[in-house]
Amino acid sequence: MPQLDDVLARLDARLEEERAALLDLSHLIHAHPEVRFEEVQAAAWLTEALEARGFTVERGVGGLPTAFRARLEGRGPGPTIAVLCEYDALPGLGHACGHNVIATMGAGAGFALAPLMNEFDGTLLVLGTPAEEGGGGKVILLEEGVFDGVDAAVMIHPYKSDHPSMGTLASTKWDVAFHGVPAHAAMAPHLGRNALDAVRLAFAGIDALRQQTRDDVRIHAVITDGGAAANIIPETAAMNAVARARDARHLFDELVPRLENVFRGAALMTGTELTITPSSRPYLEIVNNAPLEEAFVRHAARRGRTATPYDMADGTGSTDLGNVSHAVPALHGMLAIDDAALPHTAAFERAAGSARGDATVIDGATVLAGLAAELFLDLDLLARAKAAFAEATGPAR
Ligand SMILES: [Zn+2]
Ligand SMILES: [Zn+2]
Repeated sequence: MPQLDDVLARLDARLEEERAALLDLSHLIHAHPEVRFEEVQAAAWLTEALEARGFTVERGVGGLPTAFRARLEGRGPGPTIAVLCEYDALPGLGHACGHNVIATMGAGAGFALAPLMNEFDGTLLVLGTPAEEGGGGKVILLEEGVFDGVDAAVMIHPYKSDHPSMGTLASTKWDVAFHGVPAHAAMAPHLGRNALDAVRLAFAGIDALRQQTRDDVRIHAVITDGGAAANIIPETAAMNAVARARDARHLFDELVPRLENVFRGAALMTGTELTITPSSRPYLEIVNNAPLEEAFVRHAARRGRTATPYDMADGTGSTDLGNVSHAVPALHGMLAIDDAALPHTAAFERAAGSARGDATVIDGATVLAGLAAELFLDLDLLARAKAAFAEATGPAR
């Protein structure tokens, strides 16, 4: 087996050779934002680039047309390490979550490792995972077995600072529809049953519930159908509601039943019919993995970055990588592309295509490649990552 220091030096050199191609790819995806499940061009560009570097690519894995699995076998049997790419944009905001950076950090790790794989035992996968923004692409790929046989899954998200993990909330969301009885709003209001009133009362109920929830709970909603005209008692009205909490157990065992009672109460008060439909698969909180995070900190330090523990007070989001982390040892590192801008803003969109974003693409690709190489070369690191995973998720999982 080659020495890790020698391997890391060769990965660095390889990424310098690939720098221009990798940044072109990042800029191309950035300039052509495609929203969840419609990432046709991004998937095509990424898979072509990986094929050109020797990967065997399966497109449309897990029944998702824009998902892919790029595979490169080592010289013999060994661990399977998956590097994950996301490449969906946000409706109306372009790449304001910087997934072009995620995509090219992941693909770049593949570019760097490709010439070295014949010296490692094991299999390298670069997985294309669509629709992180509300589509739960990774949850579908998990259900379809795309992560079967994976020993560790690693990815990095751009951010405003460097961290070995992200603070996350488990999250679920529903379309909540009320069906009433229409009537002339002046001539015969007493014949109507007002579906918009049910939505309004549901919002009021959520606001009352908020007072009696834990500090980590988030509930937020929009009205998706507010009735047709002010002179008609609305027959239908609907909302899309999201609920989050630090752990899935609290979310599903404690919070969701109380929220469903709010929706039921609103229907009961207004004499309307209620329909609750999940509008996305639930996202679970990330299971942290200390050995992988420690390795991330070491590899980030090689690039001059000091990765500090994520501060939950800094704000948290949700990701479908959370679900992956409940199935296999996983890492969701964060590397800065800006000092201040937060994801889902216009400033973050600009940062994702900036010179600073470009530097992060190269740093992130180097970190992921180095981390994957270390997992191939140091089976003790992988064993510790698996032990940490087993301890966190319990024997029943
Ligand atoms: Zn996002
Ligand atoms: Zn994101």
